[in-house]
Amino acid sequence: MSATIIDGKLVSAQIKNKCSEKVKLLNEQGINPGLAVIIVGDDPASRVYVNNKKKDCAQCGIESFEYALSADTTQQELLALIEELNNRDDVNGILCQLPLPKQLDENAVIQAISPQKDVDTFHPQNVGRLVTGQPVFLPCTPAGVMELLKAYNIEVSGKNCVVIGRSNIVGKPMAMLLLQHNGTVTICHSKTKNLKEICLGADIIVSAAGRINMVTADMVKPGAAVIDVGINRREDGKLCGDVDFENVKEVAGYITPVPGGCGLMTRAMLIANTVAATEMQK
Ligand code: NAD
Repeated sequence: MSATIIDGKLVSAQIKNKCSEKVKLLNEQGINPGLAVIIVGDDPASRVYVNNKKKDCAQCGIESFEYALSADTTQQELLALIEELNNRDDVNGILCQLPLPKQLDENAVIQAISPQKDVDTFHPQNVGRLVTGQPVFLPCTPAGVMELLKAYNIEVSGKNCVVIGRSNIVGKPMAMLLLQHNGTVTICHSKTKNLKEICLGADIIVSAAGRINMVTADMVKPGAAVIDVGINRREDGKLCGDVDFENVKEVAGYITPVPGGCGLMTRAMLIANTVAATEMQK
């Protein structure tokens, strides 16, 4: 039997609708949520992401302030801008699009953003809160995955969960959220041996490796949920995920498409975090 296709478009639209309602309530109290988006240089992928984020903000009634800085921006200039945004009342969330040009120190930039406005949940203070189970904005991509699992009533508690990838942005926080929901979590990475055997034991596989055909049908237990975070570009220019979608959907119980799955959820969760930041700051 073919898997249920998880509809990221539908679930992300529901989350954004809820955000729009919350923004209206804030507006009634004279509060207008604002997100500052910093982009340094002219990386085309970053430009697409920033444009999408601005579009989502507009759709949900959130004001977005774009700061497009030249590729030769100095560390001092960028930190001065962040300091200014940290102190502005009309800016509730600050996002600096990564990666940054080589002369800039990403860690220092992340740490300069006020934890209260860190809607990406990259600041070490917020990462620490996440790991220790204290209230915090949830990291956008992993939180989007959790929302998809919830929307389709896919139980995490007591289930074997395999996360492929150990980046700070996706793999590690993903594992942490699954653990918080009482999953038994295995993190796999480029040095992992027997990936296929480990995946075959999984009830839930989340792939975030950035590798085409990372997850093939022979790695998936019948009925498992397969969540594809990967975004890759095929030779023909089309986007695809890490999962061999056509074959895996014949084995899995649930599967996310690319596009139409996790990417849209990441965008929705950024909006949700901006609204949450505004509510917290008021
Ligand atoms: P990354 O390059 O920082 O991390 C990739 C991880 O995959 C590494 O930890 C590495 O150990 C692991 N890996 C690589 N090859 C492997 C292999 N053969 N076997 C097992 N593990 C392997 O990337 P990232 O920033 O974590 O992003 C991962 C993917 O997710 C990319 O395709 C990226 O574009 C995508 N992404 C999607 C969203 C979204 O919203 N859907 C958000 C962020 C990232």
